[in-house]
Amino acid sequence: MTLDLTQNDISDVVAADRAHVWHHLSQHKPYETTDPRVFVEGKGMRVWDATGKEYLDAVSGGVWTVNVGYGRESIADAVRDQLVRLNYFAGSAGSVPGARFAEKLIEKMPGLSRVYFANSGSEANEKVYKMVRQISARHYGGKKNKILYRDRDYHGTTIGTLATSGQAQRAEQYGPFPDGFVMVPHCLEYRKQWDVENYGERAADAIEEVILREGPDTVGAIVLEPVTAGGGVITPPEGYWPRVQEICRKYDILLHIDEVVCGLGRTGKWFGYQHYGIEPDFVTMAKGVASGYAAISCAVTTERVFEMFKDAPEDGMSYFRDISTFGGCTAGPVAALENMRIIEDEGLLENTRIMGERLLGNLNELMGRHSVIGDVRGKGLFCGAELVKDRDSKEPLDEKLVQAIVADCMGQGVIIGATNRSLHGMNNTLCLSPALIATAEDIDRITAAIDTALTRVIG
Ligand code: PMP
Repeated sequence: MTLDLTQNDISDVVAADRAHVWHHLSQHKPYETTDPRVFVEGKGMRVWDATGKEYLDAVSGGVWTVNVGYGRESIADAVRDQLVRLNYFAGSAGSVPGARFAEKLIEKMPGLSRVYFANSGSEANEKVYKMVRQISARHYGGKKNKILYRDRDYHGTTIGTLATSGQAQRAEQYGPFPDGFVMVPHCLEYRKQWDVENYGERAADAIEEVILREGPDTVGAIVLEPVTAGGGVITPPEGYWPRVQEICRKYDILLHIDEVVCGLGRTGKWFGYQHYGIEPDFVTMAKGVASGYAAISCAVTTERVFEMFKDAPEDGMSYFRDISTFGGCTAGPVAALENMRIIEDEGLLENTRIMGERLLGNLNELMGRHSVIGDVRGKGLFCGAELVKDRDSKEPLDEKLVQAIVADCMGQGVIIGATNRSLHGMNNTLCLSPALIATAEDIDRITAAIDTALTRVIG
């Protein structure tokens, strides 16, 4: 750690935090008697808290964001240079970094051609929901307005995106929610809903059943994570995606892939959907786009969709009547451009594939020794270990024990995460999403910490 904080500075910061900051995702009662953790510095895969304690970060900034690691001076320099040149101009004008980044991004996304800028994952998803609704209004007499979402998936924190939350815990107590959002079953084979050979196809057929129940002419789009993140690191079963694509084409339903977590390398390809041969109509992305160096998200779509907003200009209201004030801040695209350069020049996609295999292998090895691990799943540097009371019943491990394992790792100086509760009350999957720069040593240290924590907490 290079930042010199005296004991007085630390006490001041912690006191100010306790007095005035309302932390995300936190019950504040414990802070009446304990200090909140405040991180002060990061470099590569490591962060330091206000007491000077060092941590190996296996969750890329808590929520799978800092893909290229901490302390990237080239991103900071690029952002600084741009901000003093022109920090901001919004409305209908473009920007130099916006145009450059969009061009570079589209190079990696064959079949797609238009980038719409926003500030967060939720917002990018909301943009697409609005596009879908407007397409319905303008081209289907307003009828094809329903949006399907999947059990255990998550798409954001706003009231609109919470209406598409497959994780009940996130939406509890925030209703009522807007109409027109309909849930389809999840595809996690470990938690089988059908006893069949072709599980992937069967899980996709369940989407068709919902479409037929609702009426295909009322369904405009479906939003899906390529690999479900907070709902349990759910990799799709064989055969799932081709069938989903077929169903979307059959009923003229737009396919919206939420790459907020998977995007920009997390799974070992630029985008998660590219593992499965999917041809999406919309792709949204946020976290890894600028690795947390600036706030930026994007909703990307095809020329076909884009064209749907251009016809009938005489009605004066046919364009996409939407804006995000800070979509005009140039820090986002300039940081995103440099972030992509780093991923490319440092070969981070390849590193992610290699280190991802190692992480998955290590977790499988742990599963051989700890019966509390019921299932291990992952793609690239994005892995989960589902914890159960016993392997036969698959009853989820108590949430308190899962939290105790996470806390034990924290005590050892390794930050890991756990999933959110879905409709089925599951909060029992350990989540790992280290930066794409992780080395073999880092990976082994992460799994060694989990090994120790499992032994200490479970036995
Ligand atoms: N989609 C997915 C898959 C996510 O995991 C998240 C955030 N965890 C979001 C959307 C929402 O992103 P944000 O918090 O930037 O609004």
